Amino acid sequence: MQFDTLIQNGIIATATDTYASDLGISGGKIVALGQNLPADAASHVVDAAGNYIIPGGIDVHTHLDMPFGGTKSADDFESGTIAAAFGGTTTLIDFAIQQKGQTLRNALDTWWKKADGKAVIDYGFHCIVTDLPDARLEEMKSLAGEGVTSFKLFMAYPGIFMVEDALIFKAMLTASDSGSMICMHAENGGAIDVIVRRALAEGKTAPKYHALTRPTTAEAEATGRAIALAEMAGSPVYIVHLSCSEALEKVREARDRGLPVYAETCPQYLYLSIENFDVPGFEGAKYVFTPPLREKWHQERLWKGLAADQLQVVSTDHCPFCYKEQKELGKDDFTKIPNGGPGIEHRLSLVFTGGVHGGRFPVNRFVEMVSTAPARLFGLYPRKGTIAVGSDADLVIFDPNLEQVISAATHHMRVDYSMFEGIKVKGAPRQVLSRGRLLIDNGKFVGRAGHGEFVKRQRYSLQ
Ligand SMILES: [Zn+2]
Repeated sequence: MQFDTLIQNGIIATATDTYASDLGISGGKIVALGQNLPADAASHVVDAAGNYIIPGGIDVHTHLDMPFGGTKSADDFESGTIAAAFGGTTTLIDFAIQQKGQTLRNALDTWWKKADGKAVIDYGFHCIVTDLPDARLEEMKSLAGEGVTSFKLFMAYPGIFMVEDALIFKAMLTASDSGSMICMHAENGGAIDVIVRRALAEGKTAPKYHALTRPTTAEAEATGRAIALAEMAGSPVYIVHLSCSEALEKVREARDRGLPVYAETCPQYLYLSIENFDVPGFEGAKYVFTPPLREKWHQERLWKGLAADQLQVVSTDHCPFCYKEQKELGKDDFTKIPNGGPGIEHRLSLVFTGGVHGGRFPVNRFVEMVSTAPARLFGLYPRKGTIAVGSDADLVIFDPNLEQVISAATHHMRVDYSMFEGIKVKGAPRQVLSRGRLLIDNGKFVGRAGHGEFVKRQRYSLQ
């Protein structure tokens, strides 16, 4: 058997197994697994001794080249996917935003253009729905047949993204008929808006008030309401960026009842807390994103939720805005600070460090939450999200002992600060391959813009 690439001496780790094996790649696919595969039949040999070989990371929550409040997120599909690749992510699902009155297809056309020719890793899109007359319901169904099998709705940001319960319920009924997933931003936007206006009237304009005006109860209430609507509609629901124990309780209770309810959290909620706002001047703006940072005790609750499969996925909600000139738009009013933080690059290292080295879960559970579960939930499995003959050769040679200190001085995201500045991680990619092609080689980017392709995703199923 001829191989384009043969990876030798590594330890393969999937969501279920850990074993020593060589791995042969041909035509961008994994074509052979086994001991002592013949090296003379390979054009290129990679020695993975001392490293894990894991399926490429899948980040199902990113916002590249996204307009927000008169500016746009600082990474485009080229710089953002290069940073993702450095961190071991080989597929992402970004969000195409429907403007009010626009068709869903228009929204997708806009985002297809943003990504085309730029992305260095494969990508798909969820469609953010802001306006849903009955004609759009048919469009949801037809898009599901074209590989856009998930839609995101907001229960927050009144006047911009927020939609009412009837629209959510109609979208969920349609999703349940057509095999789509509804992703939900769960916060009670109406109540938060009242709290925010009151704070501003009292002259509370500093960045920390972004966090103090968005209580955990607002997230828990909306999470519970989203679950109830999904239960009535007979649809699955996926709660994005879950940040607190109270919301996690709603998800846990629903899953205990056997409902198809899923949730993700993000590294910022595992590593950062409201204490990050104790910084001089306006610097707290670096941590303004939604939902906000919580009190520190929530972190351990979220780690436990990940270990126990109450939370299924870690994504990043990568939505970078530079501190200078972008975050500064809200210097006198926290409501004008662009919401979002940079995180696409360090997801695997942060979760591996706190989860596996931290003794909270084994390497297999780590692989499951950063790759396999997102692939299953969003219609990419088994093409992606695992290591098996026939799967795409999206692979990370991951050194469990490689130590790094996260810093804006060395990261590859196009943003002038890091949320995780100074945090030491242990465990990082040595090499990263997308469909058999080397993207990252020991700290050097060796891929090319335009290598990444749009991936048509399958419909959601309970299997
Ligand atoms: Zn987001």
